[in-house]
Amino acid sequence: MTEQPAELAEDSSVYKTLLESTRAIPWKIDWKTLQFAYIGPQIEPLLGWTPESWISVDDWATRMHPEDRDWVVNFCVSQSESGIDHEADYRALHKDGHYVWIRDVVHVVRNEEGEVEALVGFMFDISERKKTEHELATLQKKLEEYSFKDGLTGIANRRMFDTVMEETWNHALRHRHPLSVILLDIDKFKQYNDLHGHLQGDECLKQVATLLESAAKRARDFVARFGGEEFVIILPESDNEAAQKVAERCQKLLFREQIPHGGSEAGQCVTVSMGIGTVIPTRDQTINEFLSVVDERLYQAKHAGRNRIVAA
Ligand code: GH3
Ligand code: MG
Ligand code: MG
Repeated sequence: MTEQPAELAEDSSVYKTLLESTRAIPWKIDWKTLQFAYIGPQIEPLLGWTPESWISVDDWATRMHPEDRDWVVNFCVSQSESGIDHEADYRALHKDGHYVWIRDVVHVVRNEEGEVEALVGFMFDISERKKTEHELATLQKKLEEYSFKDGLTGIANRRMFDTVMEETWNHALRHRHPLSVILLDIDKFKQYNDLHGHLQGDECLKQVATLLESAAKRARDFVARFGGEEFVIILPESDNEAAQKVAERCQKLLFREQIPHGGSEAGQCVTVSMGIGTVIPTRDQTINEFLSVVDERLYQAKHAGRNRIVAA
């Protein structure tokens, strides 16, 4: 053997410089004693604890968020015992009390007999990544919400209606229950906009939406904006009589609201026309066929002078 101690010493000082100049924090744990053999000085700027204060794995475990501690410690111990390289994300406690998201990447070092001798690894600061992940998840949730919610009134939109209608229809088909639908259309709304302005028109739509939601009281009743100044109510397990009651309640609540119109022959205040349909779904009828019957009744209500309800 032609050992060259000077070169070796030089090598290890190069390695040390390299290790201590990365942003990742290197460390080594002796498996037999479970003591830290080494931890990079970068730990102090990141977590506030001096390198000397990392003595045993207990220091590592106690400086961890209580919610992460059990699973991380159990996972790392069992992986290490089995000699498997692994990584774990957890919140490490900063000396001043806040938490920092860390990814710990661990390599298991074995001796010539194959026994676990040490663990070496790197800790990475992943707080920025976690923050982005969290922001993305929040955005995603918002997006999903928006795509089922009508942007103006905050009630369900047409897309949500289609989904709920299909579910309700299939449920009623299986159980042979009746289901009712009310289609509502604000009377002379074009004139309302012309007289009061489009912004006031938007306010009116919001008011009507809120009011309809309070008229359909049962937990599974469902109100959506069908489009423009049209709304729809689904009443599961409801016969025609029950639907009629809800429609009359809508009319009464709207009358109480007394939203001045000023340009409608149907009344001094804002009114709606409604078509009601009740069905016990069968396999030979489609949802669209049923809805066009209800729409036809809404049209009849308009034709007969508006501000009225037409049922079968
Ligand atoms: P009818 O009694 O026959 O229903 O008459 P109408 O004027 O209500 O019906 P029409 O279909 O002619 O007009 C609907 C109006 O609703 C026209 C449109 O500008 C207005 N509208 C639709 N969506 C909105 C909206 O989001 N905001 C506002 N302010 N107006 C809307
Ligand atoms: Mg309309
Ligand atoms: Mg209208």
